[in-house]
Amino acid sequence: MNELKDIIRDVPDFPKKGIIFKDITTLLADAPSFQRMVDLIAHRYVGKKISKVVVVEARGFVIGAALAYKLGAGVALVRKPGKLPSETFSKTYQLEYGSDTLEIHTDAITKGERVIIADDILATGGTMATVVEMVEALGGEIVECCFLAELEFLGGRKRLPEGKVYSLLTF
Ligand code: AMP
Repeated sequence: MNELKDIIRDVPDFPKKGIIFKDITTLLADAPSFQRMVDLIAHRYVGKKISKVVVVEARGFVIGAALAYKLGAGVALVRKPGKLPSETFSKTYQLEYGSDTLEIHTDAITKGERVIIADDILATGGTMATVVEMVEALGGEIVECCFLAELEFLGGRKRLPEGKVYSLLTF
């Protein structure tokens, strides 16, 4: 697992001073690492009757789509405002400075269907907590929120449903 951790590039002071950005593009670009990551995460959900993977723009799309393909599941996109063409359900949430909004098509999830939600990094948990509320509002049954990596020191998992958070790597 350390090889996967080591291939993620730290970019200091991005997008602003004081933040160490975990740049996963270096992992995505390395074929054996990408395959290993997807296989390891997907393995956890084999046989769990997952019918949809909810993916969070933008890096969550890459990981989540590969997981969905492996699991034989569909994909539901969570996007920034104004990108989805049909009827959407949207949710605004607070950031350190200001707020952000996410949208999902109202018909992207069927009531009662078993879903996992995928994103690259769990930081403060604000993004995923919002997606959890959106999926619940549409009637999805959340099996787990899964991440490539978690920044443990930020405590984001406390904001998410207890026992339903998985991250392959921790920093
Ligand atoms: P949060 O809502 O704080 O958990 O932030 C999660 C979202 O922001 C994820 O979609 C990540 O892609 C991104 N993110 C937050 N902090 C970082 C970081 N230090 N490095 C890379 N991505 C981050």
